[in-house]
Amino acid sequence: MVTRRAYRKWRALVEDLPLPEPFTVPDLVAAVAARRGRPIDIGTLPGGASAQTCGVWFQLVDRDVILVEENTSSFHRDHIVLHELGHMLCDHRGGADEQGRGDGIAALARLLPDLSPDLVRRMLNRTAYTTDEEQEAELVASLIRITAEARAQRATPGVLGNLAAALGLDRAAR
Ligand SMILES: [Zn+2]
Repeated sequence: MVTRRAYRKWRALVEDLPLPEPFTVPDLVAAVAARRGRPIDIGTLPGGASAQTCGVWFQLVDRDVILVEENTSSFHRDHIVLHELGHMLCDHRGGADEQGRGDGIAALARLLPDLSPDLVRRMLNRTAYTTDEEQEAELVASLIRITAEARAQRATPGVLGNLAAALGLDRAAR
C-alpha cells in the first residue's frame, strides 16, 4: 500500500528530476547518470535468464546496470527502464526483481564479462524487493511519464489527479 506521505515524497522527487524535453527514456537515463556521477548501462536480459523477470538493476562498484527483457515492445522496454530507475531513485536495496534462475547465470556472466558467475549468482539471489518497494518503483515510473507529458503540454492535465484517485490518494494530490 502506497501511503499519502510516500506519494508526496516520490512526487516531489520526480518533480525535482532533470526531465529532458522532449522526453525520452535514454535521455532521462543519461541525465540521472550525470546527476549520480556514475554511468548507467542499459543492456538486454538474455532470453531465459529468468522466466519471471522483465528487468533487473545491478548496483556495481563503479556503475549501475539495468537489463531489460529482450522480446518486448519498445514502449514496454521504456517502462521497464523507468521501473528500474524507480528502484534506483527510491534507493531500494533489493538488487533483483525476482530470484534468479540458475540457467540464466552463465548468460548473465557472459553479458557482464568482468563479473564472475559467482558474483552474478550472489546478486541474483539477494533478497527480492518487497511488495511496497515494487509499488513505489511502479509509482515513480508512472509519475515520471505523467510529469514529462504534463510539462510537454505546458499545462497541468488531470492525469495526476486521476492517478492519485486510482491510488485512493486524491486529496493528497492537490
Ligand atoms: Zn521491480
